[in-house]
Amino acid sequence: MIVTRFAPSPTGRLHLGHAHSALLGHRRAHEAGGRFLLRIEDIDRTRSRPEFTDGILEDLAWLGVDWDGEVRHQSRHMAEYRQGLARLEAMELLYPCFCTRAQIKAEIERSGAAPHGPEGPLYPGTCRSLDPATRADRIASGESHALRLDMAKARARVDALGWTDRRFGKRMAEPARFGDVVLGRKETPASYHLAVTLDDALQGVTLVTRGEDLLAATDVHRLLQALFELPTPDYEHHALIVDAEGRRLAKREGAPTLASLRDSGRSPAEVRAMAGFSD
Ligand code: GLU
Repeated sequence: MIVTRFAPSPTGRLHLGHAHSALLGHRRAHEAGGRFLLRIEDIDRTRSRPEFTDGILEDLAWLGVDWDGEVRHQSRHMAEYRQGLARLEAMELLYPCFCTRAQIKAEIERSGAAPHGPEGPLYPGTCRSLDPATRADRIASGESHALRLDMAKARARVDALGWTDRRFGKRMAEPARFGDVVLGRKETPASYHLAVTLDDALQGVTLVTRGEDLLAATDVHRLLQALFELPTPDYEHHALIVDAEGRRLAKREGAPTLASLRDSGRSPAEVRAMAGFSD
C-alpha cells in the first residue's frame, strides 16, 4: 500500500509551496487507495511554536486536505531519536564535536581550501581526532557538544546507495559530499536528517513527496537507512512553486500565506488551483 506524508515545520504559517507539497502527497496516496499522514517536525524548539502547529491543522482543513490516523509530533518522540543515536554510537560512527560556529568558520578560513557540500562548507574535522580521554574530560566538565557522523567510516560500512525518484528516475546517493553531518546535539538528541529518516520508516512511509530543495538531503537519508537497516521508500521531489517572475513562493520571500489568501476572500478551490491542483 502506498503511504505518503506531509511533514511541515511549525516555524511560520503555510504558504503556496506547502500547499503544493501537501496536495501532491494527498493525491499520490488517494489515487492509489493508500494513506496520507501528517507529521509536525517540531524538534527545533527555538523556532517551532504551538500556534503555528494550530495554523497548519487549520489551513489544511480549510484547503480540504484530510489526513489518516494521528498526527505525529516529533517533539514527543525524542526517546526514539535518542535510541537511534545510541545505535550509531555503538557502531562507533559518532563523535562529540565541541566546536562553536565561530571556531569552525575560523578553522575553515585558516585552512584556505574548504570543500563545499550541499549544506555549505564541510566541517574541517577538528574534533574527529580528539583522543578518548580528552573527549571524556570535556563531556564530564559539561562542555556543550554536538554529535557528528564520521562520514568516511559510515560510508565504508554500506554498499552502493541506490534509490528511485518518480521525477528524477534512478539515482545513486553520494552522502560523502555532506562531510561529517551533525546528527544530534546535547540539548536536542536529534537533527532533521536523523528524525526524518527514522520517522518515515516508523510510520511506514513508502513514497516521500517533498520539494526538490531536499533532493540532495536524500543522500544522507539513504545512508542512514542503510546503517539502520531500514527499507528504502520511493521519492518524488517536486518542482518548487514560483511566481510570475520565477521567484520561489516561500515564506521568507514574503509570499502570501494560505491564511492571508483566505482572508482576502480566495476560496479553497482557487488556492488549490494557485498551488497547481485544479479540481
Ligand atoms: N520539515 C521539512 C520542511 O518543512 C520537510 C521535511 C521533509 O519533507 O522531508 O522543510
